[in-house]
Amino acid sequence: MILLIDMDAFFASVEQAHHPHLRGRPVIVCGDPGRRGVVTAASYEARPFGVRAGMPLQQARRLCPDAEYVEGRPEKYVALSLQLLELYLRYTPDVEPFSVDEAFVGLPPPGVRTLEQAAAIACRIQEEIASRFGLGASIGVGPNKLVAKLASGVRKPRGLTALDEEGFRGEFWPRDVEHLWGVGPKLAVRMRSLGFKTVGDLAHAPEPVLRGAFGVIGPQLRAAAWGRDDTPLIPYHQGVDPKSMGHEVTLPEDCDDPEFLEGTLLRLSDQVARRLRGEGWVGRTVTLKLRDRAFETLTRQRALPDFTDDHARIFEIARALFRIAWKRDPVRLLGVSVSGLERSPAGQGELFTRDERGRLLVRALDRVRDRLGEASLVPAGSLTHRRALGHVPFGALSARALERKSPLGGGH
Ligand SMILES: [Mg+2]
Repeated sequence: MILLIDMDAFFASVEQAHHPHLRGRPVIVCGDPGRRGVVTAASYEARPFGVRAGMPLQQARRLCPDAEYVEGRPEKYVALSLQLLELYLRYTPDVEPFSVDEAFVGLPPPGVRTLEQAAAIACRIQEEIASRFGLGASIGVGPNKLVAKLASGVRKPRGLTALDEEGFRGEFWPRDVEHLWGVGPKLAVRMRSLGFKTVGDLAHAPEPVLRGAFGVIGPQLRAAAWGRDDTPLIPYHQGVDPKSMGHEVTLPEDCDDPEFLEGTLLRLSDQVARRLRGEGWVGRTVTLKLRDRAFETLTRQRALPDFTDDHARIFEIARALFRIAWKRDPVRLLGVSVSGLERSPAGQGELFTRDERGRLLVRALDRVRDRLGEASLVPAGSLTHRRALGHVPFGALSARALERKSPLGGGH
C-alpha cells in the first residue's frame, strides 16, 4: 500500500501557520510583491476569487485586491518539507520525496495489508501534521503510486481518499482523459482526436491504435487507465554505498565543436555534483570518459587536493583532462564521474542548523530537479503545463530566488 501525501496550498499555509494575522484571509505567495511576476501559491481563501498558482500577479491583484501578498521564502518551505519527511520516516523507512510538498510513503506488509489499514495510518499522519505544524494535507491511498497520486487529488483540502484499482476505475473512468497522470494537455488533444475522451475510453482503446499513435507510452497509458502501475518506490535513505558517481551522454551526433563539448562537460559535472549532494557524498577523484567515432574509449583521472561536491571544481578538472586528452577527432560519448567517495560532513544530522540553510536549499532544489527534470527550474512560462501534471510550481519562485540565494549562482 502506498500513500501520496500532498500538502494543501503548502507555501501559503506555512505563511498562515507562522503568521496568525494571515489565517482565514486570502494569502498570495509570490516572488516579490513590488514587482511583476507570478503567483507561486494561493491559499484556499484566495481560490474562490479565481486566483491560481502560475497566474500573473497583476491579474491576481485585479481578481483579489484585498489579499495579503507575501514574499515567498523557499528556505523556510524546504526546512519544513524536510521536517515532514522526518515525520513520515517515523512510520516507515519507505519514504520517497516527490516534490517540495509531496511524498510517497510505502506501507509494506506484514503490518499493513488492506486499504483500510493503510487509510487508518494515513489518518494518523494527517492528524499529526495538523497538530504539530498547523498544516493541512490531502492524502491518497492506493495499491500503487499512480492510484495513490490520483486519489490524493480527489478530495482537497484535508481530504483522505483510499482507492483500490476497482475504486480507481469507478472514480476516474468517467473523467476527462487529461485527469490521468502522465496525460498533459497536448497528449490529451491527440487522444480526443482519436475518440478517446475519457479515461474509460482510453482503458478500452485498441492497443495497436495506441501503439501506432503514441509509441511505447501508448500501452503504458492504457495500463494506467486501468489503475495499474509497477513503478517502484525508491526510498530516499536507500543506503548502498556507491564506489563512484557518474553521468555520461551519447551525443546526438558525432561532434568536434570544442565549445559544445565543454558545455556538455559542464552539464555532466553539474549532474554529478547534484547527485553527490543529493545523496550526501563528497569525492576527490574526477574521471573523464571520452569515446570517439571509432568506438575507442579513453579515460583520464585526476585527484583533487580535498573532497568536493561542487560542480565548478569538478568541471574545472574534467575540462583540464579533456583539453589534454582530446585529439580533435569527432566525439561520440562524454562522461564525468567522481570517485573516492566519503560521507559529506554536512550530513543528515546537521540539516537543521542555521548555517546549513543555504546548503539545504541547494540540495532540496537539486532534488526537485532530479525528480521533475531539468526544466522544473524554469521561468513561469511552462507553469500551466506543469500544474496539469501535478507538479508544484517551485520554479516560479526559484528562478529568481536561486540567483539570489544559491551558492551555485547564475546559469541554473
Ligand atoms: Mg500541494
